[in-house]
Amino acid sequence: MAKRCLPCRCGLCLFDFLDGDHVFVIEGDKKSGPFQRRGRFFKDRDGGNAHVACLVPCIHHANQAVGCHLACVKLVAPSARLAEHLKMTAYSLDPLPYQERGRRRWLHSRLECALEQSVPLPSELRREIGRYLLQEYAVMTNSSLLKHPQDFACSVSDLASLRQRYVLFEGERYLSSLILEEGHQQKQIPSPAMSRAIYISEDHRGIKRLVFSNSGRAPNVGTVPGVWWKALPTAKPNAILTFHHDGLKMRHLSYSDGETQISTATAPSFDYPRQVSAGLRVSPFDHVSYKSPYRLARFQTNTPDLTGFSVCCGPLPITLHAHTPKDDLSFYEPVLDSSVWIYLPRQQGESIMEIWMRGHLHFRDSHSLALAFVTNRRSVLLGAAPTPRLSQCPWYLLDTPNGNPSNVYFDSYPHGITSFAFDSSKPPPGPLQPLTLPQPLSSHPDIHANFHWSSASVDHVAEISICRRPSRDTSEILGLMLHYADGNRACLGQVRLDCLDPPFVVTPSQSLHLGSKTTAGKGPHIVRACISGTDEDRKSVEGSEIDIWFEVVWSGTVEWWFTDKQCHVWQDGRHSFVL
Ligand SMILES: [Zn+2]
Ligand SMILES: [Zn+2]
Repeated sequence: MAKRCLPCRCGLCLFDFLDGDHVFVIEGDKKSGPFQRRGRFFKDRDGGNAHVACLVPCIHHANQAVGCHLACVKLVAPSARLAEHLKMTAYSLDPLPYQERGRRRWLHSRLECALEQSVPLPSELRREIGRYLLQEYAVMTNSSLLKHPQDFACSVSDLASLRQRYVLFEGERYLSSLILEEGHQQKQIPSPAMSRAIYISEDHRGIKRLVFSNSGRAPNVGTVPGVWWKALPTAKPNAILTFHHDGLKMRHLSYSDGETQISTATAPSFDYPRQVSAGLRVSPFDHVSYKSPYRLARFQTNTPDLTGFSVCCGPLPITLHAHTPKDDLSFYEPVLDSSVWIYLPRQQGESIMEIWMRGHLHFRDSHSLALAFVTNRRSVLLGAAPTPRLSQCPWYLLDTPNGNPSNVYFDSYPHGITSFAFDSSKPPPGPLQPLTLPQPLSSHPDIHANFHWSSASVDHVAEISICRRPSRDTSEILGLMLHYADGNRACLGQVRLDCLDPPFVVTPSQSLHLGSKTTAGKGPHIVRACISGTDEDRKSVEGSEIDIWFEVVWSGTVEWWFTDKQCHVWQDGRHSFVL
């Protein structure tokens, strides 16, 4: 067997392979191994690198096989059943981290209940035992669900007579089968009620439901994290639709009218039902060809109720979020430990005019990638701050909303965004102003580290809010939100709206003191903030844990350089770290 890339998780229990795990490799009806995982490789008996563990997302279009734990394969004999089981449990795309955590919790709670009925042990002990049996429990439970249904086919004119049946799989509801209503007769003449489009809601494990739209218009439903929508036009009444099954759930649809063949398996999906006829322009961000179809989340710009936006960077943009007054802040999921959250409050009357991207100089040099938003008030860089090397990277104009409401779609993975897409056509090449970004007044702290840079005027600041790291020890201060007397806001450093202290009033006569210290594994970072002349101030100054106190005076500009592990604050040539 040639060297293959294997996904990082077992095809049967869907838990990640750990170092030292013994793994069978399944390709079609062939099984080889076992191999032992060591780092990024699966070793054969002689210690050779037989296969490689793939990075997410996979770029190997033809060379991917499935790996399964030795222990899991033993639970699903005979081998014919193994292939069926793998088809049922295969992930069509990578689940979001919180979906994987939710699955683990669900399996654990179900196993605890099952143990309660069979093992007379205290609940704490059952819970602890359950922790070690999740893998086996998942394989055995799912194996018992396998059925042998066939793919289902019907003509488009039959859609109005179809009823959907559902099944539960690992606590989630999926479409299991479709049945034609009794008394159904084949309609030869297209009726006005005939479906013009099918909207398909699905996640990584299968189709959750179908919406048949007689008008072709997309259903008006809200976004559910981890649930994606595809659209299939069903223009001709005699066209044949096939609904493909995985042994328990429906997986994808195909359409054939003699001239056109469409499969939803490879179609792009969106985090809301997007109009079937709408065009889409894709702009690759990292120029890598991935195997998975596009999975595009929507970021809406220039809407009337937009209050600001948040961008997670690590250092390239990982995810974008548009804030509105009735915001749900549950999107602040830890993406990567090494990522940072940047908040850009919308200034009064501010609109995005242009969206630019910074490309890379070398293949897969993804740390160079960045975005820039040009508004009618300012230009903002989202990504690593310029260094002599990054200054050589090319910039490309992605879109020109020109202040109008528009959608930016992005395909997001834990390491970063891989592609952008737009409703609009490509911006015409023309005499555009070159991109100009604000220049730091202070020097880059370390051009070998991927620092982000922020800067704000501290004139006319009325109140400030402190943003703290979301951990049990909330002493680390990640950034500040400044509230100006005219109602505008600005941010220094990292700001997450779910980690802000209540704002407090500042006066020009009382300066802000930031206490910085360096600890093991971290560079200098801010751990105390107080206003001069207060009790808190005196206590802090007496404390010995601070390396340096930095005074922010309410005049001029403050610059805040930051990574996930350190920050450097500058004002008027002074800085917050010990040289
Ligand atoms: Zn397994
Ligand atoms: Zn791969």
